[in-house]
Amino acid sequence: MSPDQAAGGFSLALSEEVQQTRDWVHEFARDVVRPAAAEWDEREETPWPIIEQAAKIGLYSLDFFATQWMEATGLGLVVSFEELFWGDAGIGLSLGGTGLAAVAVASNGTPEQMGEWLPEMFGSPGDIRLGAFCSSEPEAGSDVGAIRTRAVYDQATDEWVLNGTKTWATNGGIADVHVVVASVDRTLGTRGQATFIVPPKTPGLSQGQKFRKHGIRASHTAEVVLDDVRVPGRCLVGGKDRLDARLARVAEGKRVGEQAAMRTFERSRPSVAAMAVGVARAAAEYATEYATQRVQFGRPIGQNQGVAFQLADMHAAVDAARLLTWRAAWMARHGHAFEHAEGSISKLVAAETAVRVTEQAIQILGGNGYTREYPVERWHRDAKIFTIFEGTSEIQRMIIGRAVTGLDVR
Ligand SMILES: Cc1cc2nc3c(=O)[nH]c(=O)nc-3n(C[C@H](O)[C@H](O)[C@H](O)COP(=O)(O)OP(=O)(O)OC[C@H]3O[C@@H](n4cnc5c(N)ncnc54)[C@H](O)[C@@H]3O)c2cc1C
Repeated sequence: MSPDQAAGGFSLALSEEVQQTRDWVHEFARDVVRPAAAEWDEREETPWPIIEQAAKIGLYSLDFFATQWMEATGLGLVVSFEELFWGDAGIGLSLGGTGLAAVAVASNGTPEQMGEWLPEMFGSPGDIRLGAFCSSEPEAGSDVGAIRTRAVYDQATDEWVLNGTKTWATNGGIADVHVVVASVDRTLGTRGQATFIVPPKTPGLSQGQKFRKHGIRASHTAEVVLDDVRVPGRCLVGGKDRLDARLARVAEGKRVGEQAAMRTFERSRPSVAAMAVGVARAAAEYATEYATQRVQFGRPIGQNQGVAFQLADMHAAVDAARLLTWRAAWMARHGHAFEHAEGSISKLVAAETAVRVTEQAIQILGGNGYTREYPVERWHRDAKIFTIFEGTSEIQRMIIGRAVTGLDVR
C-alpha cells in the first residue's frame, strides 16, 4: 500500500496487492475466458466448466469476493472486474452475478446471516453454488417502489411466506440461494420493503421463463416464481427487530434511511461501471491493433486522421470512465457518501462509453467488425446491458439531476 493510501488518501498508484490481483485475473481472462467467449455466447448457457476452473484457482470463491470487497484501498474489486469483463462480459457475469446477491446480504445482514449464507452462495470446487438477487418484477423495473411480491409473517411458525413473480433475475432459478426483495406493507412503497434469503431447495420457488438475450448470453437470466414460499424468520436480512423499528418510525411519520435494496444498488454501481470499462477497453485495444495492421490506399488505416482521431477519442473515454469508477469505489470503501451522485456518474459514463466505443470499434474493423468472426460485434451487444441493468442510464441521470439541482426531479 502506498503512503497516501495508508493515510486513507486517494492515490492512483495501485497497491502491490491490487497489482498482483489484477495480473492474476488478467491471466485467467486472457487464457481461459476470452478463448471460450464466442462458444458460450452461441450456446446461451451458463458456462459451468469455466466457473469450475475459476473455482479451482480460487477466483470464483467467497474468499476472493470477501477479500476484494474488504480490500483496503477500495480498488481491488473494480480492478478485478475490469480485467474479467475485458475477457468476456457474459462469462464475467456468470462469475460475478453471485456477488450482487452476496452484497445484498453483506451490506445489510447480521454477522450470523453472513456466516450462514455467503458460503452457501459460492460453494467450493466440485460443489459450485450460485446466488441470485431478485428485485425486478414485471411491473416494477425502474420503479422499485411498485414491487408486488408480498411477505407475510406467520407468528405461529416464525416463518415468512413469500408470494409473487420476479423477473430478469441473473442466475434466477438455477441459483442455490435467492435473495428476494418483497413488500411487507405495500402502502409504504420502498419504505415498506424488506429483503429475504430463500435457502436452497425451498419448496414453492421455481424458474419461470428463461430469456433469450441480445448480449451477455452466457449469463442466465430468468423469471423466478414464488408460490407460498416459506422461509424461517432468521432469513429476513437484518432481522425482525430492525424491520419492526423501521416500520414503527415510518408509522410515526419520521424519516427513515434509504431502503436496503437501494443501498445495495448504490454500493454496487462502481463495480458495474468497472465491468463496462473492461468491455470498452477490450474494444479500444482490439480496434487499435487492427488499425495498425489493416492496409488500404497503401498505408495502415490508422494512419488516417479520420481513424486515429476515433481511436484517440476511444482511449480517452475509457480512461475517463475508469477514473470516475475508481473515485466512486474509493469513496464507497472509505465511507464517503455519494453526495454528488458519484456512484451514478461512474455507472452512467462507463455504460455509455462502452456502447459508444464498441460501436466505433465495429466501424474501424469495417465489414469484419460486422461479422461473428471477430469479437467486436459481440462486445457491442454485451455493452448495451450496462445502460439498462442496475438502474438505466435515465435513472442514473435522474439521480445525478437531483444531486445537481436539489430539486425532486422525476
Ligand atoms: C440481462 C439482465 C439482467 C438483469 N439482472 C437483474 C438481477 O439480477 N436482479 C434484478 O433484480 N434485476 C435484474 N435486471 C433488471 C434490470 O435492473 C431492469 O431491467 C432495469 O431496472 C429496468 O427496468 P425495466 O426493464 O422494467 O424497464 P422500465 O423501468 O420499464 O424502463 C423502460 C424505459 O423507460 C425509462 N424510464 C423509466 N422510468 C423513467 C423515468 N422516471 N424517467 C425517465 N425514463 C424512465 C427507462 O430508463 C427505460 O429506458 C436485469 C435485466 C437484464 C436485461
